[in-house]
Amino acid sequence: MSTTQANKIEIIKAPNTKINEVDFENINFGSVFTDHLFECDFKNGEWQNPTIKPYAPFLMDPSSRIFHYGQTIFEGMKAYKDDNNDIWLFRPDENIKRFNTSAVRMAMPEVPEDLFSEGLNQLLKLDEAWIKKGLGNSLYIRPFMIATGFGVVANPSDEYKFMIILSPAKAYYSGEVKVLIAEHYSRAANGGIGAAKTGGNYAGQFYPTTLANKEGFQQVIWTDDATHTKLEEAGTMNVFFRINDTLITAPTSERILDGVTRKSLIDMAKREGINIEVRSILVDELIEGIKNGSLKEIFGAGTAAVVSPIKGFSYKNEYFELPQIENSIALQLKEKLTNIQHKLAEDPFGWTV
Ligand code: PMP
Repeated sequence: MSTTQANKIEIIKAPNTKINEVDFENINFGSVFTDHLFECDFKNGEWQNPTIKPYAPFLMDPSSRIFHYGQTIFEGMKAYKDDNNDIWLFRPDENIKRFNTSAVRMAMPEVPEDLFSEGLNQLLKLDEAWIKKGLGNSLYIRPFMIATGFGVVANPSDEYKFMIILSPAKAYYSGEVKVLIAEHYSRAANGGIGAAKTGGNYAGQFYPTTLANKEGFQQVIWTDDATHTKLEEAGTMNVFFRINDTLITAPTSERILDGVTRKSLIDMAKREGINIEVRSILVDELIEGIKNGSLKEIFGAGTAAVVSPIKGFSYKNEYFELPQIENSIALQLKEKLTNIQHKLAEDPFGWTV
């Protein structure tokens, strides 16, 4: 679809707004949606009828491929409002690129970049009142695509629906996170779909994560499926480890999602003069580090919580607690990044759009 076609988005406005029913101070993450959504259908080999319309349930054929074969992808990004009421996105091009990488891996059609961004921008303009000002307030953006073609035959659909929905979010405090290091279950494997943002990667984690929750751990840190000795990532976050004054994070691979927060933190750390190593890190290094006192911090990095400090971890039925520290690098980086995202600090990287 060309830019001119993408610009021709039909807009059907909601007769009323739901905004007055929302208690913005007490919103559970991902539970409230704005008045409108963006929708575009892929039929006969092309994207057609881009529309913004009232947020509402819709009908689907029970044999739609999404229900049976899980052909679906999604993204997660945020919009912020500054004191001048201008709306800002953080590195949206990265999310669009990743969405299309996921699409290719799941044998789905790519969404043209101009259609994606024009749909998103017009939707944000229409539901602008839902973006609240102030550090910690944001609008979570959930673009997704599902296979709508019917027929219970295990091959790719020929029809798809692309949608964008918006959900207001408060600063997300993950609390004191204790994690379990995976010894048996795996999130991803070489040659698999771990680097794609697709439903099955998350569904497959629910059961082992529920088992971990029962033991008092909020998250699982996944290890490589072949040896369970290398630390990879958490459920919806990449992971960083600080040994002495060096940050270490695993390289991205076919098994790890290429997180926007992760790559931004790496660039920020470099600019701040913090030692950063992108390399495989072994579970054994962590155990050694906690025993000799060199392991100072572990934290998750992702769009929802930005940076989420981890308090302790369990491995082979032994629990290890991290030391209390002053001058947390995790919190320093979090503050710098959220200030850039909210336009409260200069953005030397040109990440905000
Ligand atoms: N890993 C996984 C599996 C995720 O779902 C996410 C969230 N998108 C991340 C890492 C972090 O990615 P980002 O920083 O782009 O949100």
